[in-house]
Amino acid sequence: MKGPCVVIGGSGFLGHHLVEGLLLRDYVVRVFDLRQSFHDDRVTFFLGDLCEKQALIAALTGATLVFHCASPPPSSNDRNLFYRVNLLGTRTVLQACRECGVQNLVLTSSASVIYEGKDIRNASEDVPYARTPMDYYTETKILQEKEVLHAGSSKDGPLTVAIRPHGIFGPRDPQLVPVLVRAAQKGQMKFIIGDGKNVVDFTYVDNVVLGHILAAETLEEGSPICGKIDMMIHWCQLHA
Ligand code: NAD
Repeated sequence: MKGPCVVIGGSGFLGHHLVEGLLLRDYVVRVFDLRQSFHDDRVTFFLGDLCEKQALIAALTGATLVFHCASPPPSSNDRNLFYRVNLLGTRTVLQACRECGVQNLVLTSSASVIYEGKDIRNASEDVPYARTPMDYYTETKILQEKEVLHAGSSKDGPLTVAIRPHGIFGPRDPQLVPVLVRAAQKGQMKFIIGDGKNVVDFTYVDNVVLGHILAAETLEEGSPICGKIDMMIHWCQLHA
């Protein structure tokens, strides 16, 4: 048995798949989330808001590894909520990790943090953050990522890495494919924007999960991924 580890946002689309991937690899898994979306005898649920340190501490005590994949949905576009959860809440997660002696933290960031409305092909991790983020979600994902990576380079830890997937698809996807299907059913997909040759990254959810777990297992003092980001595209190439 490996762990214990905590998946913050483990009731969500990606988080639930991550929980399943961790269980397959013999981790002891806890979920911290506002809600409980499934039942599994092997998983302990802690219900709470990640902005509340005491609630987090109850879940993180004794854990060595934390995955932070909770966020309000991008569609909400609620500035105050994004700032409260993605920036202030992530600071609280980092503080709770320090107080509980958590060694490793893996953040689910987003590829949108480098998107400025212009095409990007074959981006590496060196592409700078968007100066004009496209929405409040992205603005706070940038701030969140900076907080987490900065914490990873400080002495009192935890060691950190941020993963930047773009569109995630797979079973139980509540947003991406259902929204496309609904639009198609309403006849709203009969337009071509641009020259029709635009490309966009989509990653199958199990590959995103694998990327997170491999990153967590590689994260140790002196590891080249410490305090760094990963664009996900390498995982896709490696594991397609
Ligand atoms: P989701 O909405 O399905 O899951 C998010 C989970 O976070 C939910 O279960 C929700 O209850 C929980 N949550 C939200 N606010 C919380 C709070 N204050 N305290 C505790 N729990 C809270 O989202 P998802 O699609 O699984 O996305 C997971 C992560 O991946 C997010 O950080 C998102 O930014 C990132 N991401 C997703 C995609 C995608 O295509 N789905 C792409 C890029 C990045």
